[in-house]
Amino acid sequence: MVHIVGAGPGNPDLITVKGQKLLQSADVVIYAGSLVNPELLKLCRPDTEIYNSAEMTLDEVIQVIEKANFSKKNIIRLHTGDPAIYGAIKEQIDELQKRKIEFEIIPGVSSCFATAAALRSELTLPGITQTVIITRREGRTPMPERESLKNLARSQSTMCIFLSVGAISEVVEDLIAGGFAPNTPVAVVQKASWPDEKILRGTLDTIAEKVQAEKIDKTAMIIVGHCLNPEEYEKSKLYSPEFTHAFRQATK
Ligand code: SAH
Repeated sequence: MVHIVGAGPGNPDLITVKGQKLLQSADVVIYAGSLVNPELLKLCRPDTEIYNSAEMTLDEVIQVIEKANFSKKNIIRLHTGDPAIYGAIKEQIDELQKRKIEFEIIPGVSSCFATAAALRSELTLPGITQTVIITRREGRTPMPERESLKNLARSQSTMCIFLSVGAISEVVEDLIAGGFAPNTPVAVVQKASWPDEKILRGTLDTIAEKVQAEKIDKTAMIIVGHCLNPEEYEKSKLYSPEFTHAFRQATK
């Protein structure tokens, strides 16, 4: 049996209880070494076989899984954040299904939520926006034109931009071309939830310079939108004294 587990954003306490228990009983762990905090591997038994997938191809990963599965071992494939976001899990799932190897996916805290927590922000504010876009800029993975940052920016929703801080100037250019005003608030958080977490706040016209001055070129999340500096938002209906819902009567 294979468990595809979300490791969370970095702080080892931010893995789920289920993920933690699975690591404690794992026979084989294949972890995404570029981003998963190696501290998590200390949860494993001393005899757990550990592989770093950053140094392996998909074929090699599958070979390790296939062999271990044949010997009825507990296998963990440990991905950073939540496996569903830029986790390249679909290609692994296809290979597992081809081989009739059973698997389960355990979700994790995505780095976009660890970033929102570091910023002490709510990404969905009534009267500002009720939508969060998870996206990236084109890199080696191409982006369809309809999903370009410029096109997505038109909705003025909160945007969590992964994998793109290395091209911060181009990100800013695209967002402004799409209709975000140059004074729109934006934050860049590097290594959210790690001990060396770094938070930069600014506006679209100041952030690129700050990012370059701090030499941040990887492992960072860009969050942009008016939710970061809400001048005028509406309080929720859910906790309003004038609002009745299934669990509470209005008191005003
Ligand atoms: N599945 C992961 C994302 C993997 S893609 C998740 O759900 O978080 C890798 C990108 O995630 C990085 O380029 C960066 O943009 C972001 N990232 C991962 N860990 C991060 C962290 N601790 N702080 C900020 N951004 C992070």
